[in-house]
Amino acid sequence: MRSFYTKMLVVITLISLWCIATWFISGSYYNSLITEQIRQETQLTHDRAQDLADSIRRNLNYLGGIPGFFVHAVRVNKALSLFGPGTIPSKLSPETKKLRWTADPVLKDLDQTLAIASTSFHADLIHVVNAAGDSIAASNWNTPDTTIGTNYAEREYFRMNKNGQPGLQYAIGKTTHIPGLFFSAPVIVNGQFMGTVVTKADVPNLTFLIKQTDSYVTDKNGVIILAHDKDKEMLSLAGSPVSRMSTAQKMAIYQRDGFPELHITPWGENEFPSLLSIQGENSPLVIAAKELPEYGLTVYVEGDLPTFVDLKRERMLYFLFPATLGSLLILFAFGGLIHMRSINIARKNLLESERRFKILSAGAFEGIAITSQGKFLDVNNQLTQILGCEQNEIVGQPIMRFIAPEDQDKVMANIRDGIESNIEHEMLRKDGSRVLVESHGQTIVQGGIPIRLTAIRDITERKLFEIELKRQAHIDHLTGVSNRGYFMVQAEQELSRAVRYDKPLSLYMLDIDFFKKVNDSYGHKIGDLVLIKLAEICRQTLREVDIIGRVGGEEFVILLPETDLVEATEVAERLREAIAKSRVPLEGGLPLHFTVSIGVTSMVSKDDNMDVLLNLADKALYGAKEKGRNRVCVAKQ
Ligand code: GH3
Ligand code: MG
Ligand code: MG
Repeated sequence: MRSFYTKMLVVITLISLWCIATWFISGSYYNSLITEQIRQETQLTHDRAQDLADSIRRNLNYLGGIPGFFVHAVRVNKALSLFGPGTIPSKLSPETKKLRWTADPVLKDLDQTLAIASTSFHADLIHVVNAAGDSIAASNWNTPDTTIGTNYAEREYFRMNKNGQPGLQYAIGKTTHIPGLFFSAPVIVNGQFMGTVVTKADVPNLTFLIKQTDSYVTDKNGVIILAHDKDKEMLSLAGSPVSRMSTAQKMAIYQRDGFPELHITPWGENEFPSLLSIQGENSPLVIAAKELPEYGLTVYVEGDLPTFVDLKRERMLYFLFPATLGSLLILFAFGGLIHMRSINIARKNLLESERRFKILSAGAFEGIAITSQGKFLDVNNQLTQILGCEQNEIVGQPIMRFIAPEDQDKVMANIRDGIESNIEHEMLRKDGSRVLVESHGQTIVQGGIPIRLTAIRDITERKLFEIELKRQAHIDHLTGVSNRGYFMVQAEQELSRAVRYDKPLSLYMLDIDFFKKVNDSYGHKIGDLVLIKLAEICRQTLREVDIIGRVGGEEFVILLPETDLVEATEVAERLREAIAKSRVPLEGGLPLHFTVSIGVTSMVSKDDNMDVLLNLADKALYGAKEKGRNRVCVAKQ
């Protein structure tokens, strides 16, 4: 049991180690897959960002070129010269300014030129601002939200123009309230700042640039001014300049104060630092940024990894598949090993038990046979002695060759039943003689084949001894004739046979004459010798089939089957004479002679039983004694 737990512990340890190893190997394989995927996506995203930046740059270069085109235009110079370099912001109301300036023929002419140019160049607005910041002519001169009459002196691009530099700015339109990118160029005449030409591209009209891809554009303050996903517009990047701007500054540019942060956090558990999560979303992204320094813009492109979550699920498969397969292999290998070992142990045990069996069977007093499928597989020395053969003359031979023909059915049935049993039967020795044996067989099954182990004992001597015992129980020890009990059994059998076959049957009752005297005169021992002599003469005189019994001290009964009264009387007479003639030799004296009286009777009726016959014979004997002894008397019936 302990070794079982040890084996289980080894198996569990191996499987655990395998699983740990698989976990790490599959993890590193998975990491290499992911890293490659991220690398590819990052590259792709960078390429897209580059393309997008290039595309935006081309468009802005084009729009930004428009003011430069106009600063040398005669109409512009003419219009600005109406105000001059030292002009101050007009104190008139906006409506008055608008009416007055649109009505001025020089300015009106410029308005119409700008309107045509704006349509031709696909600019959303082109207007001219004088040196005091007032918009004096505009392409949208005839619309309600025209810029004419509005002052732009505080605009950053205006201030840059004042310093002689071209301007660029993201801002919300003062009259349209539409966000846009403003490009401007200063008009310098004779070294004096006369005003500026401004072009605007409305942000909504720039969305075509980012239609194709998940991207957004920030201005130099880190505010998202253009985004594929509209929700992201007006969000700011963490730590960007807008967070440090005053409310007034923010209001001036963006007409708003709040810029919620765009949350960009590492994705997952930061296993892959280049993977990011935007606004807490679950899917991982890579982000590529490209700056357009000349415009203060930065273009961001998001690249997503749609198969990434699947891959993450597959990581489990990369682990589970080899882990399960390896664990099963370990289990099979161990099972096989244990099986092989148990087979080896079983084989060893079998060899050991065979060896023990050999020792045991060699030392056994009985013959031992191992048989299977009707043949001897092995026998010990004792059995070879019982059968009078060498071992190789028995092993491999059919069992029945050694069984007496009349016992073969019995032995066969016994083997077939397969039960543990004892039977007596005869076996045939090599020389053809027979040997009576008692066999004790038991069937075991080995490897699915029934094998019978049989102990075989030679019981010839025992049988003879039993017969002798039986005989001794039936005979009179002194004379060797049947004792009273056995005589009665034999007599009853003969009587019933005689009745059944209607055969005659006669009976003698015999008594030694004056036996007391013999004893008295010569002693009891001589008396015994007389009794022995008497029995001897009876056996000599009578037939084999006649049954002699000693029923009293010196009284004998003799049954004569198939003998009628006449014959019996003759035989009795012959017997009497033989006895009378006989002599018992005595030491140191004359031989002793003795006589007998015999009562004779025969079965007359079928109703006669032994009691009746004995009684009749006894009476006849009595008669013989009465008549002087040494004679035969026939019973009267
Ligand atoms: P009878 O002629 O009337 O028969 O006279 P008997 O003396 O033979 O008288 P009975 O038959 O009555 O005598 C039986 C005697 O047989 C008595 C006993 O001493 C003797 N006897 C009985 N059994 C044995 C025996 O086994 N051995 C010897 N030696 N004597 C025996
Ligand atoms: Mg007597
Ligand atoms: Mg007598």
